[in-house]
Amino acid sequence: MSELAERFETHDPGEKQVAEKIRCDACPVMCYIADGRTGACDRYGNVGGRIVRMDPLTILDHAAEAGGAVVPFVAEGEAWNGELVNTGRRFVTAIGAGTTYPDYKPAPFIVSQEVEGVDLVTVVTEGIFSYCGVKVKIDTDRHIGDGTATVRVEGEAIGHVTTGEYGSQMLSLGGVHHLTGGSKQEGRATCDALLNLCNRKPVELTIDGGATVIVEAGKAPVIDGKVEHRMRVGCGSATIGMFATQWRGLVDEVVVVDDHITGVVSEHQAGKVLGWQDTGIKIIGRRSTPGRYFKVSEPGLGWGGTSISDPLSILGDWNAKKGARPGLSLLMVSTTGEQFAYYELDDDLKPVEKPFPERLQKSVGLIEDNCEPALCTVLFIGGAGGSLRAGVTENPVNLTRSVQGLRTYVTVGGAPVYVWPGGGITLMVDVTRVPEGAFGYVPTPALVAPIEFTLRRDDYVRLGGYEAEIRSVEDILAKGGEYLNPRRGTGAPVNNPWPPLAQLRRAAANGAGG
Ligand code: SF4
Repeated sequence: MSELAERFETHDPGEKQVAEKIRCDACPVMCYIADGRTGACDRYGNVGGRIVRMDPLTILDHAAEAGGAVVPFVAEGEAWNGELVNTGRRFVTAIGAGTTYPDYKPAPFIVSQEVEGVDLVTVVTEGIFSYCGVKVKIDTDRHIGDGTATVRVEGEAIGHVTTGEYGSQMLSLGGVHHLTGGSKQEGRATCDALLNLCNRKPVELTIDGGATVIVEAGKAPVIDGKVEHRMRVGCGSATIGMFATQWRGLVDEVVVVDDHITGVVSEHQAGKVLGWQDTGIKIIGRRSTPGRYFKVSEPGLGWGGTSISDPLSILGDWNAKKGARPGLSLLMVSTTGEQFAYYELDDDLKPVEKPFPERLQKSVGLIEDNCEPALCTVLFIGGAGGSLRAGVTENPVNLTRSVQGLRTYVTVGGAPVYVWPGGGITLMVDVTRVPEGAFGYVPTPALVAPIEFTLRRDDYVRLGGYEAEIRSVEDILAKGGEYLNPRRGTGAPVNNPWPPLAQLRRAAANGAGG
């Protein structure tokens, strides 16, 4: 049982209250916490008889966009000198802010700040996401599992393989059905895996009928124990298109082996345009268009995401009437340039492997050089269209309309998000842009993610915001909030812009949204 799962067992919401314990009401679990101890999620503790958020409130300093220049913590009761590392524009994130739960109360921090003459408000809360998951992109040609195959952690189903994309395999993990719709163990395993993935820790995933993959956001995938170094340059057909001129005059035929589209230069349009001669080659596979073949093999961990280790296995007999002749030269290469071999036809028109010639080294090296590093990308996806909106405004649908109308800019820990079109506030964020350790969990089970809504103050008041709760950044730095935790400043991660004033100005001018 994981450390997370063990904690679930030890904090039963039905526990009887013991005199010295106090109740945390920051989520539906309602832990009773003894003095000096923390609750089930470790995010709140009993410090001297008061419920305290154990992590500091994180404030980003956009003048120190160094991604980690941290000033010392300022404990509750100590004086804050009013300055971070620099005196640039600050952004109060929801990391360490606490939640709006129960939902009738306003968000923990509603921050006002004047930026370039515009009064802005940022509403800050740690959202509890029962409806959430991650989309994982794994840069690899290798076949890691069939579409819809179940993905497991410690034997529990936590998601599935979804559509393969260009040079990448995709997973869809988590979601409310795995978190709450299966067994208790399934919910715990799913929550544990999502939390680790979002906090950029490695997680080992096994795919039914497929591979075992270690996924860590921003790092190379490890597939069946092997680190994937390169993302392919393109499909076999695209590789022919890109490099046909490099091979012209150096070799008679080139086959780029690919599980999806294997390319043959003499038949391909790129080769034809360059005046390539027919070679009488025969590919065993389903011909799509000239020089492009599907299904030359089963998918697997071999050349170009096929199951083959001997590339000759995809060739049929050579046809002398169509150009095959003794001595004809053949290059076979994979879509990453990692596998390559050179052959010449003998007197019986059988390809015989020969030492790889120096003249072709450069072109194979060029394929490798054009490959990007293989990475795992983890996008957190969550539905913020539920009750947390009540912590922002007394009329929740106004917030949804304002987000959809681009009058409200949404961030997660200060990182920009993509909000899906259509109803609700369904957002996605690249976890590597969110400050480390920003995600938490509660044992319901659900993930906790920081979320901030930034909009013009006049818009905020108009949509039914809690005007009386608005505080200045300086006041928050000096006094903190109801959860009594310290504040800390850190340089904003590079590439995370301050909420775009231009967008908020434009929206105001257009009168968009509600
Ligand atoms: S799980 Fe965490 S947030 Fe929920 S009641 Fe317990 S300590 Fe509080």
